[in-house]
Amino acid sequence: MTPRPSIPSNIAHNLRAEVGFGCAVCGNPIVEYHHIIPWEERHHYEADHMVVLCRNHHAELGKQNRKLAYKAKQNPINIRQKRFKGYLVTNKENQNLILGNARFVGVTTAVSYFGIPLFGHSVVGSEIQVNCFIPDDQFFPELEIRRNHVAAMIDGFWDIEFKSNFIKFRKRKGSVFLSLDFRREDVEIRGRFIIDGKNFVFSPNRCDFGGARFENLTLQGNVGQAAIRHGRSDIRLLRENYAMANPVPKFVRV
Ligand SMILES: [Zn+2]
Repeated sequence: MTPRPSIPSNIAHNLRAEVGFGCAVCGNPIVEYHHIIPWEERHHYEADHMVVLCRNHHAELGKQNRKLAYKAKQNPINIRQKRFKGYLVTNKENQNLILGNARFVGVTTAVSYFGIPLFGHSVVGSEIQVNCFIPDDQFFPELEIRRNHVAAMIDGFWDIEFKSNFIKFRKRKGSVFLSLDFRREDVEIRGRFIIDGKNFVFSPNRCDFGGARFENLTLQGNVGQAAIRHGRSDIRLLRENYAMANPVPKFVRV
């Protein structure tokens, strides 16, 4: 018997995008590719007869009537909720953040924008907990990480690649919007995005913090406030909250 070839990458991508990059049933971002028409019945990689599921739902739906799998494929939870969710974990004692080629050693908030932390971290026990906020042009969170819990609006993303200690967001093929890698000694963040018309670039050979460019920067020690601050100190961005009659982000004087 010849071994089963691996799934073509374009089919795998289309299947992941169809379900909003998580299990069709529960949204778990660690996924497998389920043959609704089983491989044994017909050797195929036809997207119409496959669906992305987590390991548990793969095992469960694999034993049930295939109509249930088609139903899950037609109405995936992440698409219904317009949201991707995941949780980043590490078993390494990561201590620091690296944004592109800038190293933040013992710095709680690396970058802030009108008082809102964009990138920061803390170490709880031996686990690093990363925070990240990338707003859209209305200052609603397009992508947010709170203590390693990831939430993103699905609409803008072409692909979200997730392994439990690694995540990569792409808005289009061939370019990385944001990636976080927990597999090495420090947490490495790379990407290229725009906040309020300002370019942020974090790459191994270029670091641009919305107009402030640095080469091989190391910032050490907790400075109390953010290490790199954007915006006026007398104005803060107040994020939307449900105490507001009309919950929209706004700038307020302090
Ligand atoms: Zn599932």
